[in-house]
Amino acid sequence: MKENSLPAALQHYFGFSTFKGQQEAVITEVMQNNNCFVIMPTGGGKSLCYQLPALIKPGTALVISPLIALMKNQVDVLRGLAADPAIAHVLNSSLTKTETERVKTDIRNGVTKLLFVAPESLAKEDNIAFLKTVPISFLAIDEAHCISEWGHDFRPDYRNIRPVIDKIAQNIPIVALTATATEKVQEDIVKNLKITDAKFFKDSFNRPNLFYEVRTKTDQVDVDIIKFIKQNEGKSGIIYCLSRKKVEELAQTLQVNGINALPYHAGLDAKSRVNHQDQFLNEDCDVIVATIAFGMGIDKPDVRFVIHHDIPKSIESYYQETGRAGRDGGEGHCLAFYSYKDIEKLEKFISGKPVAEQEVGMALLQEMVAYAETSMSRRKFILHYFGEAFDEKNGLGANMDDNTRYPKEQQEAQDELLTLLKVIAVTHNKYKSREIVHLLMGTTNSQIISHKTHEKPFFGSGKVQNERYWMALIRQAMVQGYLRKEIESYGVLHLTSRGTDFISSPKSFMMTLDHTHEATVSSAPLKGAVLDKQLMQLLKAERKKIAQQHEVPPYAVFQENSLEDMALKYPVKMEELITINGVGEGKAKKFGASFLHLIEQYVTENDITRPQDVLVKTTGVNSALKLYLIQNIDRKLPLDDIAAAKGMDMNQLLTTMETIVFAGTKLNISYWIDEILDEDDQEELHDYFMEADSDAVSAALEAFDTDFDEEEIRLYRLKFFSEVAN
Ligand code: ADP
Ligand code: MG
Repeated sequence: MKENSLPAALQHYFGFSTFKGQQEAVITEVMQNNNCFVIMPTGGGKSLCYQLPALIKPGTALVISPLIALMKNQVDVLRGLAADPAIAHVLNSSLTKTETERVKTDIRNGVTKLLFVAPESLAKEDNIAFLKTVPISFLAIDEAHCISEWGHDFRPDYRNIRPVIDKIAQNIPIVALTATATEKVQEDIVKNLKITDAKFFKDSFNRPNLFYEVRTKTDQVDVDIIKFIKQNEGKSGIIYCLSRKKVEELAQTLQVNGINALPYHAGLDAKSRVNHQDQFLNEDCDVIVATIAFGMGIDKPDVRFVIHHDIPKSIESYYQETGRAGRDGGEGHCLAFYSYKDIEKLEKFISGKPVAEQEVGMALLQEMVAYAETSMSRRKFILHYFGEAFDEKNGLGANMDDNTRYPKEQQEAQDELLTLLKVIAVTHNKYKSREIVHLLMGTTNSQIISHKTHEKPFFGSGKVQNERYWMALIRQAMVQGYLRKEIESYGVLHLTSRGTDFISSPKSFMMTLDHTHEATVSSAPLKGAVLDKQLMQLLKAERKKIAQQHEVPPYAVFQENSLEDMALKYPVKMEELITINGVGEGKAKKFGASFLHLIEQYVTENDITRPQDVLVKTTGVNSALKLYLIQNIDRKLPLDDIAAAKGMDMNQLLTTMETIVFAGTKLNISYWIDEILDEDDQEELHDYFMEADSDAVSAALEAFDTDFDEEEIRLYRLKFFSEVAN
């Protein structure tokens, strides 16, 4: 086939009628054996840039890719297109001898056009020896950012590709491809591969159909996520969390709230992973809750939202993950939840790494903070990060982010910034943010006292503002370059030259106030929803009445926090009542009816709109664990053995048992109580709990002075609840 018929080849091999972005230009260069460097966003069509020339050119193209799964996926696609299993192969150490021979024979016979290989396999002596003997058309390096330590996915083996390829043959043309490369990363790649002459191609990173939003992460974040999903019912979405544990928890919380969600992380067995992924692709499941392990090479065109439960470690990761939304050009909402606490966790994690990595990690993270806190167009910020200019007034996708649509309020903070920078200057760049805030607020701690800093005139000079304000100002001053955090002496704040200049000649500094987000969410936010005090009074009175009828203390009917939860959520049906904190099915049935009746009446009389969409159920104790405990307590196993078997200490076991019992399930632990408390002790405790106003352990400890310890009281309380209340 001739070069000028590339469109015909595209049609012939792939059935596509037109090239995407710069594909044709890239392929033309590859056909002429020129080195190329290709940057296209995720979904931009990078694979085709090497697949098509590989199919056309004589010889076999080597394709380096970091993940076996990615290679297999492409091999399957190519085999399907060509209806010939020999057209593409993977070469790796998991192949049997016979399989490896098959691959080599196919290559020798000239039928294999693409050979996928991980950099580690490429470096193997016998593979080098073999590849020397066959014609190689060119080398493609996919996910080339893995070469650079300044990328987000550094792979040391990627740095050795050049010397290895030189051993195989001279003058093999190289095509490097990646979706994410800042200038620094680009430079690294080109130098490392020695392809400074490479033709450079870059498709715009702008994804005009994606909407970017960052919300403050509170302890209501799960509720916020559930609300968001319910407002987008039936749409496909991905939620990224940083830990496997959070993935499991959140997937469960979503499931009990009627959302069709599944977990995905590297700790699941291969079968479940494939199964969950398939269910997502086949739309049997709407939402995947995943660690970053999910999504590489997944091509679901209609993912409508990508939520970051935790802020990612870099803008590269963030961009790649959000890039999985709206590949078909339709709606794609990218929502990230941001809290500075998460950043501090990540910083702590990074500070445990080798120094060279720390510097990179902190710098990448700082950019992420800047993104989260910026009040400028988020699209402009991202594109700027990737070296692309964007016109936030008229560019494609202008107005498609929270900041441009709902501009944040700003406030003059020149005086405050001056106060802050001065304190840092006079304390000689010695303190971390929290300590600086202490100094400003005039709160002491041992370090401050030992340095005698509390005797200084500036101590307490920032009392007019609160802590939250100062923390925010420090971060914004950092983003704007007045301050920087020292990396080696972890987290210590230093003035920059810009900061010093500001002290000598202060000027306006507009500080952005925190977003309230009410504008971006259509229904009333639950955050800030307040406890209905009037209803609370009625509920308490009802509890007293019911307690008297059953001859039990009030807290044995429903605990205080359960009533509070009712006064917040207004449950009027049995199903709703069991979503209330500490209320299980048993308790709901036994005591619930009159409470529901009361709430219903109250809601009607006072014309209250119930926050129906956000009745969020917590998962409570995982049901397998609950079953295990019930069974083994029935078998009268010593509690310390049960705890040990589950890897818990006694305190954790007690907490778990309390969750179960307070929600209304009986646990008969008399056999154990009889071991540790004699009859008189038990009677004393029983009488106490019968009479007490509160079931609080602290009150009991005080009442008994030193007669019982906390563990004994908690254990007896479990027995008491099981016998009297449940
Ligand atoms: P990247 O590796 O850049 O993320 P892929 O190579 O996986 O992207 O391609 C993304 C999707 O675009 C694939 O489904 C691919 O089949 C499709 N695609 C690539 N080139 C074209 C084209 N010229 N016309 C139509 N679809 C294309
Ligand atoms: Mg790709």
